[in-house]
Amino acid sequence: MKSFNTKIIAVSNQKGGVGKTTSAINIASFLAITETPVLLIDMDPQANASSGLGIDINKNKSIYDILINNISLKKCISKTEIDFLDIVPSNSKLAGAEIELVSMFTRESVLKEAISQVLGKYKYIIIDTPPSLGLLTINVLTASNSIIIPIQCEYYALEGLSQLLNTIRLIQKNLNPDLKIEGILITMFDTRLNLSQQIVNEVKEYFDDKVYNTMINRNVKLGEAPSHGKPIILYDPSSTGSQNYMNLVSEILNQNG
Ligand code: ADP
Ligand code: MG
Repeated sequence: MKSFNTKIIAVSNQKGGVGKTTSAINIASFLAITETPVLLIDMDPQANASSGLGIDINKNKSIYDILINNISLKKCISKTEIDFLDIVPSNSKLAGAEIELVSMFTRESVLKEAISQVLGKYKYIIIDTPPSLGLLTINVLTASNSIIIPIQCEYYALEGLSQLLNTIRLIQKNLNPDLKIEGILITMFDTRLNLSQQIVNEVKEYFDDKVYNTMINRNVKLGEAPSHGKPIILYDPSSTGSQNYMNLVSEILNQNG
């Protein structure tokens, strides 16, 4: 079987509601339709990435079993409706892991260790993270090559980011010296608002060329798709949201080409 040089990308920001899960689902889906094997790992106890891909979160083995019950990651992989896209689902039990991990010897690198079993099997591993900077997120950043930071286009967009950047620095210093920022993604851009452009300028001033040229517009279809258990490419491929994520993935592929 073909072996890939696996790239592991976290989608992270400790703010809730900024588009992490929507981005993780749709980046993973558009990568997979290029017929390259992709694994999405859901590391959020809310399990929105799992349910958003139509996975029954109470029926399947989950990331919790991997982190806490020492079950091999391979045994917890589910298929999705998209060929080439697999998922390790989450469920609400994962909320307890934040505390259960504390007493473990290698508590920051449990996920990294688990992922090592499937390195080479996937070209991309995309990881959705919870809205916090606790041990679950630390595990994700320790296991990842890079991080995509979605920033919602609204007042206080940059608020809390220094905390995230500090965490990244600490992880680079102590746990994962090679962790990079893959890109900054502006989400829920509203073309009708002057404020939106103002915020884009602010974010670009701060992050410079790390900001993706592609921005994700506010688009109702993106909001509807999860309740149908589908990524946007299956729910409404001609929608603006679908076009946006397709363009974003082209940019990601170009950078990694
Ligand atoms: P997070 O994972 O950071 O909490 P989500 O991806 O779950 O954020 O997005 C928060 C809410 O906004 C969800 O209901 C989602 O469906 C919706 N949403 C996300 N991105 C968009 C968008 N570009 N346009 C409209 N609604 C969006
Ligand atoms: Mg989420």
